[in-house]
Amino acid sequence: MILHVDMDAFYAAIEQRDDPSLIGKPVVVGGSPTGRGVIAAASYEARKFGLHSAMPGAQAIRLCPQAIFIKPQMQKYADVSKQIRKIFNRFTPVFEPLSLDEAFLDVAGSAKLFGDAEKIGRMIQSTIAEELQLVASVGVAPNKFIAKIASDFDKPNGFVVVQAAEVTDFLDQLDISRVWGVGPKTQKTFQRLGVQRIGQLRKLPKATLQQLFGLNADHFWRLARGIDTRQVVPDRIAKAVGHESTFPQDIDSDAVLDSWIWELADQVGRRLRRNQIRGKTIRVKIRFHDFRTISRSKTITARTNASRQIAETALNLLRTVRNEQRDSIRLLGVSVGGLSGQSNQQQLLFGQEQDQQTKQIDSTADAIRDRFGSAAMKRGSTLDR
Ligand SMILES: [Mg+2]
Repeated sequence: MILHVDMDAFYAAIEQRDDPSLIGKPVVVGGSPTGRGVIAAASYEARKFGLHSAMPGAQAIRLCPQAIFIKPQMQKYADVSKQIRKIFNRFTPVFEPLSLDEAFLDVAGSAKLFGDAEKIGRMIQSTIAEELQLVASVGVAPNKFIAKIASDFDKPNGFVVVQAAEVTDFLDQLDISRVWGVGPKTQKTFQRLGVQRIGQLRKLPKATLQQLFGLNADHFWRLARGIDTRQVVPDRIAKAVGHESTFPQDIDSDAVLDSWIWELADQVGRRLRRNQIRGKTIRVKIRFHDFRTISRSKTITARTNASRQIAETALNLLRTVRNEQRDSIRLLGVSVGGLSGQSNQQQLLFGQEQDQQTKQIDSTADAIRDRFGSAAMKRGSTLDR
C-alpha cells in the first residue's frame, strides 16, 4: 500500500497557526488587496467564497471583499516542509515529495516496526497535528494514482483507505477529470462519447481509445482500471540511474564501444521506463586500460527515458573523448541523472517533445523482454557486437 499525505491549505494554515487572530477568517496568501497577482493559497474559510489557489487577486476580492491578504513567506513554508519530511522519515525513508506540502510514502518496509499502512498513516497524521499544529489529509491505497485521489477525497483532515478489492468501485463514481492526464481538451473528447465518469471510461473498448489517443490509449485504459505501477522514488536515492560494464579485454574498436553504449543506454532507459521516471543529464563514464577514469555529461532540454535519445547523447560524448584520446578502454558506464517522477511524465506524455516512434519501439521492446527475457530482443546496433 502507498500513502499520499497532503497538507490542507498549507500556506494559509501556517499563517493562521502563527497568528491566532487569523483563525476562522478568510485568509489568502499571495496576490494583493489591490487585485494584483494571483493567490497562492486560500484558507478553508476563504474557499467557502469560491477562492482557490492560482485565482487572480482581483477576482478574489470581488468574491470575498473581507479576505485578508498575507504576503507569502516562502522560507517559513520551506522550513515547515522540512519538519514534515523529518516526521515522514521517522516512519519510512522511502518517501517522494511532490511539492512542499505533499508526498508519496511507501511504508511496506516499516510494517514490522509500526504496523500496517493504515496505522502508519494515522500516526503520521496525528504526529503532524500534535507537533506542528497543522492538518494533513491522507490517502491509503494500493498505488500512487489511487492514493492521491484518496487523500483529496475528504479534505480537510481526511483519511481515506481504498483496499485493492475496492479500487474499481471507488473509481467508477469519480469524474474523469480525476484521471491523471485528462485536461480540458481530453475531457471534451470524452464528453462527445458520453463519458463523464471513470466507470464509463472503463467500459470503452481498447480499440476506441487507441483510435482517439494512439499511444496514450494504454495509459487511460490502465488508469480506468486503477492500474499504476509507478514506484515511490525517494529523492535521496534517485540521483541517477546507471549501468556500467567492465570488459573481459580492453577495447579499441569504435564499433564495439558504440554497441556497448547502445546496450548500456538501453538498460538504463528500460529501468527508467519501468519506474516511470525521466532524466535530463546523460553521463558517460570511461575507464582506460591504465585505470584512468573520466566522465563526460550533457544536459538535454526535456527529460527523457527513451533508449535511443540516451544512447545518441552518450555516443556523442564518447566520440568527443575518442577524438582526444584513443587509448583502449576497460570500462564503460552510462547513467541518467536529474531525475523526476510523475509531474514530468504528465507534462511529456501529452507534449510534443516525445518522439512517438521511439516511444513505440521502446514499449514494444520492453513488452517482448518482459515476456521472453532480455536475450530475446536486441537492437540492430547491439547485435553487431
Ligand atoms: Mg495541499
